[in-house]
Formats: sequence, structure tokens, C-alpha cells
Amino acid sequence: MHYLVTGGAGFVGSHVVLALRDAGHSVVVFDNLSTGHRAAVPPDVPLVIGNLSDQALLNTLMERERFDGVLHFAALSLVGDSMRVPFTYLRQNYLNSLQLIELCTHHAIRRFVFSSTAALFGTPEQQPIMEHATVNPGSPYGESKFLIERVLHWAETIYGMHSACLRYFNAAGSDPMGRAGEDHRPETHLIPLAIDTALGRRPALSIFGADYATTDGTCVRDYIHVTDLAHAHLMALEQIETRSVTYNVGNTTGFSNLDVIRAVERVTGRTVNWSWAGRRQGDPATLIAGSERLRRETGWIPRIAALEDIVETAFRWRLTHPDGYALPAASPMPGMDMPA
Ligand code: UDP
Repeated sequence: MHYLVTGGAGFVGSHVVLALRDAGHSVVVFDNLSTGHRAAVPPDVPLVIGNLSDQALLNTLMERERFDGVLHFAALSLVGDSMRVPFTYLRQNYLNSLQLIELCTHHAIRRFVFSSTAALFGTPEQQPIMEHATVNPGSPYGESKFLIERVLHWAETIYGMHSACLRYFNAAGSDPMGRAGEDHRPETHLIPLAIDTALGRRPALSIFGADYATTDGTCVRDYIHVTDLAHAHLMALEQIETRSVTYNVGNTTGFSNLDVIRAVERVTGRTVNWSWAGRRQGDPATLIAGSERLRRETGWIPRIAALEDIVETAFRWRLTHPDGYALPAASPMPGMDMPA
């Protein structure tokens, strides 16, 4: 099959590109490189640099490539940021996706995999969170993703497009073969920040919130290895041959922020210098996945499920890539690569 991957230069997208190629599919990546990296895209995978709002460019690309399906990752993705600039998140994520989905219907593209999020559940009473749990987003980020799920519902009802909405819990780790890793700028995620602090590349780590209703007062998250997450996309693609699906993708185990620090200390053999800070706006206390539907319907099982094993892959990548995806010396700045 031939797939378009939007946001394929980003953390999850780049790992999905690897999984698609390992499974024998061909891929074109579409990314504006605002947060993704050119070096995260394998050299023999075509990379189209552009904004999702550029309908003409996408239209030409779809006309030329005749994709069998689209996997859509390109989005603003930080819960905390979305509480600061809510309308930017709602507008950009929703409108760009709406236009992309509409364009897919024009080009009779019938398969669509969407990177959704556990953040659309808000702070549910019941953990683990099952697929049928009430949607009640706790942030504009979560809301923007839910709005897109609704667009996909109508794309199926009216145009027969099959979609998979994959509600990710906390993606972490890096490709076990070392071909890709996590490099956000600025980095805001707990595991890479804790690793860099352990390595002495950051002076200290702040832990946001000590008074949540959890066992140690810090937030609890379900960390899912990014390669397992990528494999869930392959499984979802099989399912949408015949129908649309919505899956939670997580390990069904929660770890507190202090658990993560301890795991990083064990894996790195070093101390993480951390201190308490106030709560980060928009953070739910606990997010643990109920992933039974995905397991039951597709046979998916996470292969790198233990927190320390997840941290280990992330640590190895940071060791071999101290500067992350360093820009090649001869490359111009990403913004200058935009097609005229
Ligand atoms: N976190 C923290 N300090 C940091 C970054 C994150 O305490 O410097 C906490 C954050 O408040 C949340 C957990 O770590 O409770 C996971 O946050 P992350 O940003 O990694 O993922 P999210 O759950 O927001 O998708």
C-alpha cells in the first residue's frame, strides 16, 4: 500500500513511518518541520515540506500519488500550551484536519488513521479508562482531537471513509534499533527531561504538583513504547479494511511521576536532581488505558511493556544522539525549505 503520513518527521510519526516500511508499504511524509526533523525521515522516503493549510499543495500531492490511505499526526500536541493559547490549538488542529479529511473524500481515499489522545477523557473517575468512557476533554488540546474524531464520524457516515481513531496514552522510548528517537524543542516530556537531567545536560527537573489524589501525590500516566504504538497503527490499518474503529493504546499500567524518576535513576545509574513545582494547568491526575478492545480485536500486545525497558531505549538514543537530530551542517534552516 502507498500511504501519506502527515507529521511523519515528528516523534510518533517517524516511528510509524519505520513500522510501515518494515511491513513493506511505501510512504510519503508531509511535514512543515515546525517541530519535526528532516533527519527523522529516512533518506529514501520522500519528504514534502509544507503546511497542512496549503490545500493546493496537498491536492496536487494526492492527485499525483494516488494514496491508499492517510495517517495523520501533524498537530499541536502540548496540553499545557493549549491552556495558554486555546484558540490556536482549537483552530489549527481542527481546521487543518477538517480540510485534510475533506480533501481525502474528494480523492476517494477510504482509509484514515488519526492520532487521537487520552486527553479527551479529562479526569474520569474510573481507571483504567475504557473506550466507552465518557468524553470530557480537560484541555483545548483534548477537545481539538475529539472534534476531529467527530469529523471522521461524518466522513464515514456520508462518504464511507473508514477511520481508526487511536487514543494514545503517553508515548515514550525510541526505536529499539536506534533508527529514530525523541527530540522535542523545547522538550516538555517527563522521561526525556529526566534522562537529560540524570546525564547532567539539564540542571534540574521540576515535578508539577504534589497534591494530586494519587498514591504519592504526583500524576500517574500510562507509558506506551512508541514502537508498540506504531505497531498498533499497522493493526488498525487491517481493521479499517472493513469498518471504522476507535482504540485506546496504552499498557494498562500507571506510573507516578516519582516512579518515572526512580526508573530513570535505575536505568542511568545516576541521580535525577528534581524539586517540587506547582501543578501544570490541564494535567489530569491519572490516565491509565483500558486497551482491551485493541488487544481483543487485533491481537496487539505491547512488546516493550516494562517502564525500565521503555526508559532504556530512550536513554540509549540520548546517549548516541546528545544533540538529538542535529541539523546537517550544509542544511539551511527548515523554514527556508518551504516550497515557493
Ligand atoms: N511533568 C513534570 N515535569 C516536567 C514535565 C512533565 O512533572 O518537567 C509531569 C506532567 O505534569 C505530567 C507527567 O509528567 O504529570 C507527564 O507529562 P508529559 O508532558 O510527559 O506528558 P502528558 O501527560 O502531558 O502527555
